[in-house]
Amino acid sequence: MNYELTPEQAQIQRMSREFSIEEIEPAQVQMDKDHEFPYELWKKWSELGMAGMLIPEEYGGSDLDPVTYILALEEVSRVSNTFALIWQVHVLVANIYARFASQELKDKYLPIFATGEKLGAYGLTEPGAGSDAAGMITKAIKDGDDWVINGTKTFISNAGTDISDGLVLMAATGEKPNGKKAISSFCIPQDTPGFKLGQSWDKMAWFGMDNRELVFEDCRVPDGNLMGTEGAGLKQALDGLNLGRIAFGAISAGLIQACLDESLKYAKDRIAFGNPISSYQLIQAKLADMATYAEATRQFTLYAANLHASGVPCHKEASMVKLFGTRHATQATLDAYQIHGGYGFMHEYKVNRFFREGKMLEIGEGTNEIQQLFIARELGC
Ligand SMILES: Cc1cc2nc3c(=O)[nH]c(=O)nc-3n(C[C@H](O)[C@H](O)[C@H](O)COP(=O)(O)OP(=O)(O)OC[C@H]3O[C@@H](n4cnc5c(N)ncnc54)[C@H](O)[C@@H]3O)c2cc1C
Repeated sequence: MNYELTPEQAQIQRMSREFSIEEIEPAQVQMDKDHEFPYELWKKWSELGMAGMLIPEEYGGSDLDPVTYILALEEVSRVSNTFALIWQVHVLVANIYARFASQELKDKYLPIFATGEKLGAYGLTEPGAGSDAAGMITKAIKDGDDWVINGTKTFISNAGTDISDGLVLMAATGEKPNGKKAISSFCIPQDTPGFKLGQSWDKMAWFGMDNRELVFEDCRVPDGNLMGTEGAGLKQALDGLNLGRIAFGAISAGLIQACLDESLKYAKDRIAFGNPISSYQLIQAKLADMATYAEATRQFTLYAANLHASGVPCHKEASMVKLFGTRHATQATLDAYQIHGGYGFMHEYKVNRFFREGKMLEIGEGTNEIQQLFIARELGC
């Protein structure tokens, strides 16, 4: 596999790094203060073509490859996991439209997703069903030419901002011949009667990201809003989430690198027992681990992204990258905190935020236990 970056990939990686330092980092400080969605930042990022990075040119997108996306995402994640995740969810949703939506829905949503005028969201999780997606109780029942939806989703990212639209919603639409639930996905325009924004969650991190409950009470959408075929929802989710899991590898690589950068700087400055703590081997071991796992996660993620870009089936690799990267990201945030001693407890130090952000990567986009089950299944268990 060729890992040499094309001039375009290298240029976008550089541009993302510069934009992250100049624009995203200060916006992250603001998000931590006001807990508001960063509209201005999203607009500037979109103007660079990043909202539509993977959207085909015919819909106004930049039509770039997943490897370029992964490179840019790692750069963003080094300064803000929050903004990285806002972008990641949007890209995932646009990708689902590009692959599974009807021509009419593509024509309506892909151009406004490409410009960033509208923000994508994906609603699968329910209060009583997360990992066990098939346990969902949200139902869509056919009524003439429409579907009538009732149920509640929770934790959904990006769904309640002023620019949210075109939610991809998963709902049970009946039973398959084998007795299992048929799960289908629908496009829900933001202004659909019966679609209500519920409670917004008070979180420990990712403050600029909108996460909330979504309520559906006799919410009626036309048959044309069904994405793909009836009952194909879980298969679409699995396909779509491959890119999402690879993206979590890039976010992990960015977070581990950020932990290393902050910890190395701190360890060289901090004096204990008359020497910088970086001179002590127990501290060096932590720094060496962070450097190793940042690089290993980065390379493994690029490998999986290359498979995905070449159209090679990569369910196993996507799950492995997610499992490996996020596990080591959590460990890196703990080690970075430990190296900072009591200062790691203080909000003034970035590692405090890293510590609050890291663990959730092991839960989102399918928990790490679920990734282990997928990998074991691919091994023939
Ligand atoms: C900030 C945030 C943003 C989110 N954004 C979205 C979003 O945009 N869209 C969306 O649909 N969802 C979203 N989610 C939901 C997220 O995907 C779920 O939280 C996640 O899938 C886990 O589901 P759960 O929380 O219900 O945990 P559960 O499924 O209840 O799991 C609890 C624990 O049990 C373990 N477990 C479950 N089943 C098994 C098993 N068979 N074997 C071994 N262990 C098992 C899990 O791994 C976990 O450790 C978000 C969540 C958060 C907190």
